[in-house]
Amino acid sequence: MSTETYHVVFQMVCSRCNRKEVIYLRNYRLRLCSFHFIDFFERKVFDFIRKFKLIKRGESVLVAFSGGKDSLACLLSLRSIADEHGFNVSAYHIDLGINGYSYTMRKYVEEICGELGVTLHLTDLKEKYGFTVEEASKKRKRPVCSVCGIVKRYLMNRETRELGYNKLATGHNMDDMIEFAFKNWLNQEFEWLAKQKPLLPQLHPKVTPKIKPLFERTEKENAAYVTLKGFEYPLNECPNTYLSGWKEVASKIEEMKTGFKLMFIKSLEKFSYPLRQGDFKVCSLCGEPSSSEICAFCKVKTAKI
Ligand code: SF4
Ligand code: ZN
Ligand code: ZN
Repeated sequence: MSTETYHVVFQMVCSRCNRKEVIYLRNYRLRLCSFHFIDFFERKVFDFIRKFKLIKRGESVLVAFSGGKDSLACLLSLRSIADEHGFNVSAYHIDLGINGYSYTMRKYVEEICGELGVTLHLTDLKEKYGFTVEEASKKRKRPVCSVCGIVKRYLMNRETRELGYNKLATGHNMDDMIEFAFKNWLNQEFEWLAKQKPLLPQLHPKVTPKIKPLFERTEKENAAYVTLKGFEYPLNECPNTYLSGWKEVASKIEEMKTGFKLMFIKSLEKFSYPLRQGDFKVCSLCGEPSSSEICAFCKVKTAKI
């Protein structure tokens, strides 16, 4: 009697073809090969843009491209569907002057935009405004991320408008949005929470509409998308990165309740709270929209030790 031993290796295959699975999307119960995952991702972004009317035909979109995987996923996916949807895409990068980080990111962004043939607009904070976010943080005695947030919001809004773009697109993903939502809900920042939408419309003539095309895409999907498209991205994180732990909490709930994150984010899309209207003044120093006499950016810029 023969006693041959057979080792049966189960190799999962794509739900749509016979190629090898490279990613399992639990929410959608889909196992996808590289080709079908890229197709899935770009379709989802396309459908999301249509559903929320994020971009109209003929518009020009400026992508905030930090050099991280999410902003790269945003740039690549918008670029891949731009022709079909009839819009233009360019990139915007701010060199924040952060030691050991900004130089690498800037070089990477310049290299990728060159490779893709995408127009890149760049602001060197130190060169143009005379300070880095870390210097301003010391002068203002405020956390560096808080200063950085002020700088990014100000410049992204101003540059998008002054360069003549219709929308500013950011690479915020589902996990980022859930983290924001947890933090803002617990701090009772309901108005801020209500602004975290796929499309933040123009609330003032000088405020550019902001869009988040990857609102329903996860960090894992973004990382897989850029990798499978054949791009590497810098893994070094900003030295000021602070981990709140909320993403891990959301992932633990997801492990116990499949679909939690997607359901949560869809609820966030519907969450509303009355937004204050007409409380924008104009900064007396720079002329940009502000809720006080001098805008937060000018306060940072003019801070003395
Ligand atoms: Fe800016 Fe903080 Fe992000 Fe670094 S971690 S890029 S300082 S917001
Ligand atoms: Zn396939
Ligand atoms: Zn100002």
